[in-house]
Amino acid sequence: MKCRHCEQELREKFLDLGVMPPSNAYLSKEDLEKPEPKYPLRLLVCTKCWLVQTEDFVGRSELFTSEYAYFSSTSRSWLKHAADYCEAIIPRMGLGLKSLVVEIASNDGYLLKNFLGAGIPCLGIEPTASTADAAESVGIPVIREFFGEKIGQTLAARGKQADLIIGNNVFAHVPDINDFVKGVKALLKPGGVVTLEFPHLLQLLENCQFDTVYHEHFSYLSLHTTRRIFENVGLRVWQVEELPTHGGSLRIYGCHAEDPRTNDPSVRKLEEKENKRGLQNLIIYKGFQRRAEKIKQDLHVFLAQQKQAGKKVLGYGAAAKGNTLLNFAEVKTDFLPAVYDAAPSKQHKFMPGSKIPIRPQAELQKETPDCILILPWNIAEEIRKQNLDIEKRGAQFVTAIPEIRIL
Ligand SMILES: [Zn+2]
Repeated sequence: MKCRHCEQELREKFLDLGVMPPSNAYLSKEDLEKPEPKYPLRLLVCTKCWLVQTEDFVGRSELFTSEYAYFSSTSRSWLKHAADYCEAIIPRMGLGLKSLVVEIASNDGYLLKNFLGAGIPCLGIEPTASTADAAESVGIPVIREFFGEKIGQTLAARGKQADLIIGNNVFAHVPDINDFVKGVKALLKPGGVVTLEFPHLLQLLENCQFDTVYHEHFSYLSLHTTRRIFENVGLRVWQVEELPTHGGSLRIYGCHAEDPRTNDPSVRKLEEKENKRGLQNLIIYKGFQRRAEKIKQDLHVFLAQQKQAGKKVLGYGAAAKGNTLLNFAEVKTDFLPAVYDAAPSKQHKFMPGSKIPIRPQAELQKETPDCILILPWNIAEEIRKQNLDIEKRGAQFVTAIPEIRIL
């Protein structure tokens, strides 16, 4: 396999999670009778551009279907994150009635509705019909396609270049990352700004967040590699922020290479930090498999001990990362009889692979668990606050990454 960015032959495989179903392929009751498609899930690192990437094997059309179950508006903290961003960027960029804001992977309109509310013209690009329907129902125009160079050029030719392009948790989820940035280059108005948010590779490696690896998540990015990918198409990263979202993300600000903006010191500082922590050195990648396997064993031991002691453990949050964790750790219904979730699109379905049933959050009130394993550890505090009554009844909240932790 060749690197998806620089095309160098990839030789360094540093994580093998075995064969797994796509992480967002939640199962209906009827699906339980059918064979489940499973694909190898492995990470490779390119020693030329240092792009960390999943091994090739499955087309994206199988991953993002019209039934795609992830609705951004389900997470309250994510909604606040989006609203805070809009509140800051509108005055900063002087956006107004004549501006155009385009969001790539606009999902259910969780973010663009803030621009709509401020009277700023906006456009969403979103291939999954279920979420695009939701966005259109609140008045956000949506182009229902995967974003790339072709759409960028088509919109530019129609005079629809953007003052601001936003991509939150999409940059790392596209198989052809070069085509994506070519699309950004074409779509961006001269003087315009693109902001992209994605999980930071440094956090994956240092906090052993192997559960954030799944087939739909093609790239694991550092600032170093992102700058390279941008420069390749005539774009430039001129500012970067470290965010706490998704266990540690980057928000990069980009512009055309020839833009008069000078680079903010944050760019040089963060690239130095990445370099110092060894992101461009194979050593940090070499020990990763062993660390992931230790978490798997520890989770197994913990759940076995609970069961032996006659304690009831339930799961919370049917997130994609939970599927990677449960499938890698081979946790099934004998250890975890149910996972509770607030999203109606996932309720009454089953977790892919483990086939653990997903129940509505409200039903948790009828249960008396001794322990609740929170799968989306990145929003563990939010989940805990929403379920304080269960804690009062004696349940403990536990997370498994980067180690078993009782909250
Ligand atoms: Zn490469």
